[in-house]
Amino acid sequence: MKKIAIVNNQKPLSIAYAQQMKDKLPTYDLKEFSVGDIPDYVISIGGDGTLLSAFHQFQNVIDQTQFIGIHTGHLGFYTDWLGDQIDQVLQGIVENEADSISYPLLSVDIQLAKGQKQHILALNECSVRSHRKTMVCDVEIKGQFFETFRGDGLCIATPTGSTGLNKSLGGAVMHPRIEAFQMTEMASVNNRVYRSLASPIILPADEWLVLRPDPSNEWIDITTDHLFWADQTIDYIRLELAKERIHFASFKHTHYWNRVESSFIANRLSE
Ligand code: NAP
Repeated sequence: MKKIAIVNNQKPLSIAYAQQMKDKLPTYDLKEFSVGDIPDYVISIGGDGTLLSAFHQFQNVIDQTQFIGIHTGHLGFYTDWLGDQIDQVLQGIVENEADSISYPLLSVDIQLAKGQKQHILALNECSVRSHRKTMVCDVEIKGQFFETFRGDGLCIATPTGSTGLNKSLGGAVMHPRIEAFQMTEMASVNNRVYRSLASPIILPADEWLVLRPDPSNEWIDITTDHLFWADQTIDYIRLELAKERIHFASFKHTHYWNRVESSFIANRLSE
């Protein structure tokens, strides 16, 4: 019997749909996941933020599970279904279990100056910033020095994350089938003395970035998606596309550019 994990946000509508879904599982010969199991499907009910939480909750079994996003606000980048389509979702699980589509993730390895190491996957992006003073940070690409960045911070995004913080920083929107990741600058200092590229860059799957903040930067904040670590002293952070990928059940497909149009422009393509 297939195991289903349901992750919802705290909006009353999301709570109600989550309960309806739990009640209907036995009708479709499905059962609710229990702690310790690996769910066959993770169903997130809420928005893209809820899907991000679900992803981090199950990132240790990311290659063994498929995600389905139900939205209770607006069409999102990770949410395809409406709350009143619960029966179609469950029927789709029963009938189309082999169909899935996968997207790249970002592998983030943080080496703290105190010696601890941390490895985490990001679905949208990792950002490295300093809110107390200008961040000074050497950027290496594929083992070679590239530039010294000075400014508020750097954002490194996946293709599916390119419509999030990356886009607000002037980064390009990338189709999620592109195997690459993108670095954008936050408020770089560029003058006759200090210079960084000042443009977003897109790196291929076989290259990696190493960020080495100046040791005098004692207050670096790191985010991966909605997760946040404040005031870190960092030796370096290595970023590259991960070996793991996120898998979405693909029995409902929304054309990517329709999704972009619907989120940011509204109705011009469909007119
Ligand atoms: P949050 O409140 O959970 O999310 C902020 C907004 O970003 C929400 O409207 C969310 O959509 C949307 N979002 C999330 N992933 C997206 C994606 N891949 N493409 C387009 N929009 C997306 O904020 P948070 O907890 O601080 O951070 C979660 C994510 O939000 C971050 O990974 C970042 O990409 C994004 N964010 C963007 C900005 C910005 O653009 N200036 C600032 C902060 C965070 P829903 O309403 O559907 O959840």
